[in-house]
Amino acid sequence: MFPTEAKVVVIGGGVLGTSAAFQLADDGNEGVVLLDRGPIASGTTPFAAGQTGYLTNNREWLPFTAWSLEYFENFEARTGYPIDFRQTGSLRLALTEKYLPDLEARIEAGREYGEEFEMLSAEQATKLAPGLEAGKAKGILMVPRDGYVDPKSVAVAFAAAAQDKGVSIHTNTAVRDVLLNDGKVKAVVTDSGTIQTDWVVLAAGAWNRQFAQRFGVDIKTVPVRHQAFVTAPIAGVSPEQPIVRITEPQIYVRHEGGGLLVGGYGYRPLSFDMNDFPDDFEIPALASDKIYIDQLHQAATEFFPALKDAVIIQERRGLPTIAPDAKLVVSEIPEAEGLIVASGCMVGGISKSPGVGRVIADIVGGKESSLPAHTLRADRFTDEYNDDTRLRSKCEQVYSTLYLDVI
Ligand SMILES: Cc1cc2nc3c(=O)[nH]c(=O)nc-3n(C[C@H](O)[C@H](O)[C@H](O)COP(=O)(O)OP(=O)(O)OC[C@H]3O[C@@H](n4cnc5c(N)ncnc54)[C@H](O)[C@@H]3O)c2cc1C
Repeated sequence: MFPTEAKVVVIGGGVLGTSAAFQLADDGNEGVVLLDRGPIASGTTPFAAGQTGYLTNNREWLPFTAWSLEYFENFEARTGYPIDFRQTGSLRLALTEKYLPDLEARIEAGREYGEEFEMLSAEQATKLAPGLEAGKAKGILMVPRDGYVDPKSVAVAFAAAAQDKGVSIHTNTAVRDVLLNDGKVKAVVTDSGTIQTDWVVLAAGAWNRQFAQRFGVDIKTVPVRHQAFVTAPIAGVSPEQPIVRITEPQIYVRHEGGGLLVGGYGYRPLSFDMNDFPDDFEIPALASDKIYIDQLHQAATEFFPALKDAVIIQERRGLPTIAPDAKLVVSEIPEAEGLIVASGCMVGGISKSPGVGRVIADIVGGKESSLPAHTLRADRFTDEYNDDTRLRSKCEQVYSTLYLDVI
């Protein structure tokens, strides 16, 4: 039966919404309802590369990413469901002196956190990642605990675990509006009926900003297109090889199905206003930008020459959300008491999903989070981003330099 009341309504069954729903229920909250306009994981989540980077150069932020990584390492024990987490490690290559301080700052932050990391030679890197031409690198950092997951399996596992803990899940149920009274959340209006509630978690991915505008809330994150491709099997590529991240061309390359999965930032950045799409728009209908793929292919071929003749068998694309200061927004909204937004994933929502769900459960529980939740507040932006054109242009710029603005 469709609920008419709930303690918390979570809008969006992507990786962020399902993580929140599970962790809310895991904390003992009863009356949690999770809604999605399609099936579970029908937004950007299933198209991700699923990489779980955590070694940031930001000491304040490291506890959040490290906590999320530890969650993936113990996912089955925490949720009851296995995920295929392949902890291959990763190599981060800086091609110029300019980015060596970034590698050193990561090592230093990791050391303070209690972990040691080493720099590798080009020969050592190529041994680990066959086919990689690393001769141009000025520095190569190995991060052994990095890895990747099948992104859809994470959302599906969180949803199944949430249901086991009593969360009421309703798919193919679009939320049309959130009703506020005197600045407080009162109800959500859906295709199937209205649910009275004091708490709403808005985790609608690319739709967050325009959806919230319907009830007068301005969320300062913007959907920006991100693309990747997968090749047919390539001789020598191994499932054990580490992810390779190269700073200056802003690319990542990892094993997928015997071939390589290649993605990258800053290639023809394009943001969207979701009102420009039809109401029934779904992520797979997002048009491919062939020039983006060509540029990415060309950039990656310089480091993996076997890509030159490799056949592209799949493209992955979606609309991750970007904030103007390149950080997540996971916060109650000051002008709408009881509304918590989970946005600004920065093309890292899979990786950060455990921490995002934790912060949301802590907000509802009235607890001071053990994670640095204060850095994720929605009211941290200056008025200059009240202007939509300015906000979009800044977010496109942030997307363009995701690997480069690290120091
Ligand atoms: C090519 C590519 C590679 C990527 N690689 C990585 C990576 O390696 N590592 C990483 O961590 N991240 C990666 N990402 C980013 C990652 O995919 C996102 O950060 C993450 O999926 C965002 O999840 P979400 O839950 O916020 O949004 P979504 O997955 O988009 O979920 C939002 C959900 O809300 C639902 N919804 C929307 N509006 C409504 C409504 N009105 N009513 C009900 N439901 C609604 C949608 O149907 C959807 O299911 C990548 C993304 C792409 C495109």
